[in-house]
Amino acid sequence: MGKILCVLFPDPKTGYPPEYARDTIPVIAGYPNGQTVPSPRGKLGFQPGELVGCVSGELGLRPYLASHGHELIVTSDKDGENSEFDRHLPGADVVISQPFWPAYLTAERIAKAKNLKLALTAGIGSDHVDLKAAADHGVTVAEVTFSNSISVAEHVVMTVLSLVRNYLPSHEVANNGGWDIADCVSRSYDLEGMHFGTIAAGRIGLAVLRRLKPFDVHLHYYDPHRLPANVEKELNLTYHSTPQDLVKVCDVINLQTPLYPSTEHMFDDKMFALMKRGTYLINTARGKLCDRDAVVRALESGKLAGYGGDVWFPQPAPADHPWRTMPHQGMVPHISGASLSGQARYAAGTLEVLQNFLEGTPIRPEYLIVDAGNLAGTGANSYKLA
Ligand code: NAD
Repeated sequence: MGKILCVLFPDPKTGYPPEYARDTIPVIAGYPNGQTVPSPRGKLGFQPGELVGCVSGELGLRPYLASHGHELIVTSDKDGENSEFDRHLPGADVVISQPFWPAYLTAERIAKAKNLKLALTAGIGSDHVDLKAAADHGVTVAEVTFSNSISVAEHVVMTVLSLVRNYLPSHEVANNGGWDIADCVSRSYDLEGMHFGTIAAGRIGLAVLRRLKPFDVHLHYYDPHRLPANVEKELNLTYHSTPQDLVKVCDVINLQTPLYPSTEHMFDDKMFALMKRGTYLINTARGKLCDRDAVVRALESGKLAGYGGDVWFPQPAPADHPWRTMPHQGMVPHISGASLSGQARYAAGTLEVLQNFLEGTPIRPEYLIVDAGNLAGTGANSYKLA
């Protein structure tokens, strides 16, 4: 019998379950690169479209775990030494958490978690786990690769358009009873003809490029792994061999790089200094890829015309985090990958990985980040330990 410790975001303030806006969600048959969608054995413990990422939703895991005699602890109390998470950690075999409400598995916590064998991210992005410490302690780290990549790509496209067209301030004018056209449009532009670049063209970055192609923009990218020549040709992509080269020529930049020690603060004062005045920066990758205060300075000086995204550090962000109040921003809490559509896929993938682990069958390589003491699978392609 295993002990599964699952950290999820709190229930809606309005109670659980919420009143859903729709009765069904589309069935997605497969992912664009041919990867298959999650395929756990047996029945799912939820209806796709239900809110399962919060505490009462339990990712729909209880029916399977209970019927197989495993213990499931679900909590949102994750920070500080007296948190419920810390109290249960020493006895846990598996820790599950979502990047939206991350249970930070630091080296100190991993050292205390003597039984821990699997750190499972319900979603994508396992930087809340100290990957080096996990590797050193023989802890496997897995995530549900591709589960919400398209959810995030859609959010990026929305944020690009809302910043460039000055949507959010104009919406505020309408909400407040105004009709101040000149105030709305004095920061509003067309995206058409602009240069758009993504730093990282993995599952999300490439999906963003594909979605922006019909807007008649010039598309650029940087990634240490170059895309196949036919994809570069199809999208008419300009490849840059460094992020610095890309930021000099782009009007809109999308940051989609995983966070690991050497990508922390990739965007600092030096990087902003290279950009054109009035660049837009979108970051749905991780907050720590940017120097927090350098972003504020770049917006205040006009180097950045706008900054938008959903990722912060730490999470949840404190009430006085400067990104909540800086000018020209389109920030939201970490939600882009947590749409009900995304949740259905990452909850099913979480069950698939748990079944693999508890029943002794292999976890798909594309779901692996760390295994057998080193980076593995997607982790070996997308992360570095330093
Ligand atoms: P992916 O593994 O498919 O792609 C990652 C890409 O990053 C790879 O192509 C890799 O070569 C590239 N890369 C690695 N190091 C780089 C560097 N130093 N500079 C530039 N590129 C680099 O992952 P994905 O599905 O595209 O997700 C990317 C990231 O987005 C995740 O790691 C996660 O941090 C974030 N994410 C956020 C949300 C959200 O809800 N906001 C949801 C999913 C993922």
